[in-house]
Amino acid sequence: MDYRRTYVRDLFNLSPGTQASAYGWVKTRRDSKGISFVQLSDGSCFKDLQIVVNEGTVSADALKLITTGACVRFDGEIVESPAAGQAVELLAKDVEVFGAADPEKYPLQKKGATMEYLREIAHLRVRGNTFGAVFRVRAQAAFAIHQFFHNRGFHYIQPPIITASDAEGAGAMFAVSTNLQLDDKHQYKLTSNDPAADFFGKPSFLTVSGQLEAETLALGLTNVYTFGPTFRAENSSTSRHLAEFWMVEPEMAFCEIEGNMTRAEEFLKEVIGYLLENSGQDLDFFNPRIEPELLKTLSHVVDSPFERMTYTEAVKLLEASGEKFEYPVFWGTDLQSEHERWLTEVKVGRPVILTDYPKEIKAFYMKENSDGKTVRAMDVLAPRIGEIIGGSQREEQLDVLERKIADFGLPLEPYWWYLDLRRFGSAPHAGFGLGFERLLMYVTGMKNIRDVIPYHRTPGNAEF
Ligand code: ATP
Ligand code: MN
Repeated sequence: MDYRRTYVRDLFNLSPGTQASAYGWVKTRRDSKGISFVQLSDGSCFKDLQIVVNEGTVSADALKLITTGACVRFDGEIVESPAAGQAVELLAKDVEVFGAADPEKYPLQKKGATMEYLREIAHLRVRGNTFGAVFRVRAQAAFAIHQFFHNRGFHYIQPPIITASDAEGAGAMFAVSTNLQLDDKHQYKLTSNDPAADFFGKPSFLTVSGQLEAETLALGLTNVYTFGPTFRAENSSTSRHLAEFWMVEPEMAFCEIEGNMTRAEEFLKEVIGYLLENSGQDLDFFNPRIEPELLKTLSHVVDSPFERMTYTEAVKLLEASGEKFEYPVFWGTDLQSEHERWLTEVKVGRPVILTDYPKEIKAFYMKENSDGKTVRAMDVLAPRIGEIIGGSQREEQLDVLERKIADFGLPLEPYWWYLDLRRFGSAPHAGFGLGFERLLMYVTGMKNIRDVIPYHRTPGNAEF
């Protein structure tokens, strides 16, 4: 077996007459007049390679095992294909079956499986069209994100996953403790009530955001970004929330709210533009299968300027809209997804950047405006999904930040190092957080965030 074997993706580019081997999993097999037509995929591209097996070329025993889900290698010759939609196919001369898949039991049969069912067999769903495309796009998007920042001199940093600080100051964290053990009856047992006796010597949690640590690195490296897992113990089951999700968090010194907005817009446009150029086959599948106007809206995002308005202007528009919203709108309320969708879908028809939110509904670290009521926050809202990016200019003045931490009812002590940034060489700085899975929902049109991550973590589910 040659580890440098040719991907199916590249087999399509070989000239007729070339001897080749194709490795992969059987999607379907159809027999007609003594010829078997096998659709083979190795996940390297959306398209399956058609393999033609003439009667008698492979043993009857082997042929019996070539069923949906089986893993095989075909050796043969690339020939011109008479079938529509493909220039070439492989005329088989030999086959090796690596792993059969009993057709009576294989859970991923051909048609009509619901997304919910496929979630239960998440270890196999990647072999189908939809999830093959989702995870290829996920990988391409990750690459595009790294490339965007790398090309602009940002340093990729890795903040800790276990932390003693609550970045959002909002609770909803998973505790990390060795004081809690499973006993031999599989019951929880507390070995100590004392956080000081715990592994880290104080209460520790899975991070909800790497932002605070990213700020420390930005005030030294100037432009940095994180790209890693974050965790929120939000006990709500929505189609937009995961307990474990991946976040991209750039942090920029010498940057204020305007630069932050411009950077966020440029970022979304470049990443989406990259996917339009490089994930064409996969996006062509999502459009229209999963989302009818997907390509049109994505191109529109790349080509048109994002609308910018203040929270106060948005509330006025919502109040004047005459719409019956489930949650009432008034100045000071946090906007709900239905409000965000009305603004982006009905009112503006493209992404909207909202700024200057009431300080009470945003995190403690955001820079206060001179009105004393609002902060320099910015949320990027996208049609179909609402908030996709949340960001702000950070408060860089020590006295104001100390007051705000106290106003939020948070203790000062754990933030000593964060406050040090304002004590020594403070600088105006800003940044934002993009939920990677929210972006993937947007670009694929997938309706549930559980279906754009290989294994979703949500209330009641940690399978796989
Ligand atoms: P939401 O109001 O949608 O819950 P948030 O205000 O809690 O979002 P932030 O704390 O600003 O979100 O987090 C930054 C980004 O991370 C959001 O813009 C969103 O894209 C993403 N995000 C937040 N919470 C989740 C979650 N539970 N699952 C997936 N992505 C999330
Ligand atoms: Mn939230």
